[in-house]
Amino acid sequence: EDKDWSFMVRVRAPAGRLTAAQFLALDALADTHADGTLRLTSRQGVQFHGVIRENLKGTIAAINETLLTTLAACGDVVRNVITSPAPRRDALHARLEAEAFRLSSALLPRTRAHHQLFLGEEGDEAAAVDEPLYGPTYLPRKFKIALVHPADNTPDVLANDLGFIAVTEGEALTGWILTIGGGMGMTHNKPATYPRLADPIALIGPDEVLEVAEAVVRLSRDHGDRSDRKHARLKYVVAEKGVAWVRERLEADLGRPLAPAPALPKLAVPELLGWHEQGDGRLWLGLPIASGRIAGRLREGLREVVRRFAPNPIATPQQDLILSDIAAADRPAIEAILRDHGAVFAEELTPLARWSLACVALPTCGQSLAEGERVHHPILADVQAALARHGLLGERISLRLTGCPNGCARPYAGDIGVVGRAPGLYTLFVGGDFAGTRLSFPLADKVKQEAVGATLDPVLAAYAAQRVAGEGFGDFCSRIGADAVRGLLVGETKA
Ligand code: SF4
Repeated sequence: EDKDWSFMVRVRAPAGRLTAAQFLALDALADTHADGTLRLTSRQGVQFHGVIRENLKGTIAAINETLLTTLAACGDVVRNVITSPAPRRDALHARLEAEAFRLSSALLPRTRAHHQLFLGEEGDEAAAVDEPLYGPTYLPRKFKIALVHPADNTPDVLANDLGFIAVTEGEALTGWILTIGGGMGMTHNKPATYPRLADPIALIGPDEVLEVAEAVVRLSRDHGDRSDRKHARLKYVVAEKGVAWVRERLEADLGRPLAPAPALPKLAVPELLGWHEQGDGRLWLGLPIASGRIAGRLREGLREVVRRFAPNPIATPQQDLILSDIAAADRPAIEAILRDHGAVFAEELTPLARWSLACVALPTCGQSLAEGERVHHPILADVQAALARHGLLGERISLRLTGCPNGCARPYAGDIGVVGRAPGLYTLFVGGDFAGTRLSFPLADKVKQEAVGATLDPVLAAYAAQRVAGEGFGDFCSRIGADAVRGLLVGETKA
């Protein structure tokens, strides 16, 4: 008997940028073709869940009509290119956005098979097409790119295979620090797999982004491990061959020497939620979206706002939504509509809730080992109770929850990572930093979902008592060290 298949369909939205018209078209599709929700991903994409087989082609065709695509949103290719999401109307932000769009188009596979299979284009989908970048066998694994400027590392640039960090002098962009070899995924009990932050490799000129990106994609194509998908990401090549080797390969490919990378600048993650001036007389509103799920009354409210005022939405790497290009005069009406529809504004959230991410996990993600999004609120409530016990509820602490160690919500790069291990059980990570420049370490394994707060409790108590002024939770854990932090655990929670 035929099964009732349902699919997840992911829309590629370079830099997370959507127009008001695109947002409304996606919103309408959520009702007619999916489960009535839109989900913003941790990489500035939009997902539809529960697309039944009969609706698959129609969904993909309708997305294509909005001038968006699902092509290369999945698969062993360059994925959605992400960047600092703030719609500040200055030259630097315009450049970041433009480079993200340029990379996104230029690095797409050339195959017409997608168009022939899903969009009714005539032709033989099995016919070979010359893929100058990908070659006949594509990449060994997915390939993620981010571009940022140091004051806005919301995309966690170092968690990507390839990163570009803008270098500026005053207003002028003078170059980019090229970073290579980041990636979050790992497999429990498989030590050959691990999360890794990218290394700075070179300083490149302001106009060299695409040329260098292509060379790095070829490096991954030619040297990634094709014998083991769990060990195929570029980060393992960088870790095993070394930074000097990577530089030499790139120099040989480009046919010229590369300037050494300067020390990484201090990276920061700014507050993008709430009302901000864009710099062109208009405003943006950053709206927190729990787990990136736009559903129910909130979806109705957003639809009304976008219909009436046509703000251009931006999906952020923090799974939130920015409504950009708002006239100052429209602010009260927009706020009233959203409040009427139960929208929660950033100032109503604890910092932990505001800075938390959760992946989809069950029931839609086939990789999940434990719940993600569906236990986001209970886990937050549990950890918030522990924070409250130690007077820490107002502290800016990030929490990232995933249903498996693939780490889509970047759990190894924040203050607290909660990573699915088995049904109802999680591995806890601490010691990363808020700005995404240091990896965390495992604190306790096989922690019951209901015990996450209790396990963290003694560590939070020590943080409250012993931190130095201005020290973040992850920074504190890193300073006292993994052994000392684990030594704080009590009773059953001891690792
Ligand atoms: Fe990603 Fe794993 Fe979460 Fe699935 S369960 S969304 S693969 S982290």
